[in-house]
Amino acid sequence: MYRIGFGNDIHRLEKNKPLILGGVRVESELGAVGHSDADALFHAVTDALFGALALGDIGSHFSDRDERWKNADSLVFLSEAVRLIKEKGFRVVNVDSVINLETPKLRPHVDRMRQNLAQALEIEIDCVSVKAKTGEKVDAVGNRQAIKTEAVVLLEKNF
Ligand code: MG
Repeated sequence: MYRIGFGNDIHRLEKNKPLILGGVRVESELGAVGHSDADALFHAVTDALFGALALGDIGSHFSDRDERWKNADSLVFLSEAVRLIKEKGFRVVNVDSVINLETPKLRPHVDRMRQNLAQALEIEIDCVSVKAKTGEKVDAVGNRQAIKTEAVVLLEKNF
């Protein structure tokens, strides 16, 4: 049995904030604003995992009003989602994702993000895709006001 899940995320960008994506600290003039560490890639994948099994969303599991999650490492959220899908007898088959960010170029960091995701999801790195796109200088992404992410995951039961 297979289940598919979709997740996305958006965070505002500001100066003097860290930019963390897929557990990688990316050197950037602008960083993501959020209650946790604002890792928009981990958040999208976490939501995709919850979505695949209709387990709610990241906000229902980890409220942004909960002091426990202030500046939290988003690996905690991702790991909890993995624990829940395993508890229900599923495993991750593969993940595909997109990071929409105007600058900086993410290419040099993508393989480390894939490695971090593969480790957290307990799959091989060649089952983890992380793609990067700019916003073509239009809209919130293109105007460097926001970072957006999207992810889809496939889960398998009775493997
Ligand atoms: Mg988020």
